[in-house]
Amino acid sequence: MNLLGQTLVCLCILSSIAVAQARPLPGSDVAQIYQHLLPEIEKIPIFDHHAHPGFYDDPDVDAMAAPPGGSTVLRERASNPELVAAAKALFGYPYDDFSPEHAKWLAEKKAELRKAQGQAYFDNILDKLNIEQGVANRAMMADYLDPKRFAWVFFADSFMWPFNNRREAARNPDEAVYIPLQEKMLHRWMRQEGVSKLPAAFSGYLKFVTRTLEDNQKKGGIAEKFEVSYFRSLTFADPPLAKAEAIYRKYVTGGVPSEAEYRTFQDYIFRYLVREGGRLHLPVHIHTAGGIGDYFNMMEGNIFNLENILRDPRYSSTTFVMIHGGYPYERQAIWLASAKNVYMDSSLMEMVMYPAAMKDTLKQWLETFPDKITFGTDCFPYNEALGAEESYWIGVQTTRTALAAALAEMISEGEVSEPIALQLAHGFLHDNAVALYGGKVH
Ligand SMILES: [Zn+2]
Repeated sequence: MNLLGQTLVCLCILSSIAVAQARPLPGSDVAQIYQHLLPEIEKIPIFDHHAHPGFYDDPDVDAMAAPPGGSTVLRERASNPELVAAAKALFGYPYDDFSPEHAKWLAEKKAELRKAQGQAYFDNILDKLNIEQGVANRAMMADYLDPKRFAWVFFADSFMWPFNNRREAARNPDEAVYIPLQEKMLHRWMRQEGVSKLPAAFSGYLKFVTRTLEDNQKKGGIAEKFEVSYFRSLTFADPPLAKAEAIYRKYVTGGVPSEAEYRTFQDYIFRYLVREGGRLHLPVHIHTAGGIGDYFNMMEGNIFNLENILRDPRYSSTTFVMIHGGYPYERQAIWLASAKNVYMDSSLMEMVMYPAAMKDTLKQWLETFPDKITFGTDCFPYNEALGAEESYWIGVQTTRTALAAALAEMISEGEVSEPIALQLAHGFLHDNAVALYGGKVH
């Protein structure tokens, strides 16, 4: 090789090093990259992996209800000025505030559209936000939701509360609201399966549980959801069948189990439901964020209490989705997604966090396991002002802008190319979640 050739080789190596070396600060081009990326990201049709679409007067939007106390985070208060922007974008709201007579205009507009459009009402909301399809995590599906656009995720917690729940409901005022609703849910499953009273044998109870999962799947259910951290700790021990069976036999016809007995029984049932989720290809969704009310226990509800379940090789064929990404521990929790069958969902985080904070969280997730993260809104009819419609809007707007900003920084800092960035955006907003359901959603 002559001198010129050697020089060229050296230059090539140097320039490839210069390109490959990531920088700690974004360049002056970051705003321009963001402006260019955002419309591309807005074009990506979304699959919403976690949401509670429905109207405020519909008790089936969740299997639980809001407890009496607790604080509302700043952004979810009716005073949030973004709600005016949401109402303008979704309903052509002509005012700039929610004075009582203006709010009345919005309520009437929604009622009129609801009556005129039927199933198309929520389809139109999805269309406005470019959501192709979304999960409806609800107690039961509603006839006003279009099954072509909404995939049902049903609740599986209630199988853990079949006994006399007097002690459970008396623990605090929040449980006094939650536990009777779990009893109601269990009775609905029993009615659905033609079971008039609890089977005498534990094997019969487990068969009833399995049959319910299978029938819910036949009715279109794509996953089973747990909000169990509202009712007890996420630490699940591993009791043998005989122990659970003895507790079942002791209390199936009456009597109040001790707290320890009830927990042991629930530990067994939870693991049974996780195992069945693997067998039936029914992914397991688990609420893993902090929660509402005065009595949600942050230590007991901490996502890391689930690690023994998530990393148990016996459940390697179960797909786990960590709903709300373990928030406010989402930065640590992404490391649970190192397990091949564990996925993270971003819902709720972008309702609580503003875009600037969400940008930092998404950037860290994208830099860690970008193929294991999925998007959800956690839309919910909180009240008349912040309905499912407005929370869809906040979730989608926050995420698209935060995602564009995170990726713009990553491009500007030399971490990824623009084509790769757009590929990551498609994965997060749509492809990663859709791939978990074997063609049942798109
Ligand atoms: Zn939710």
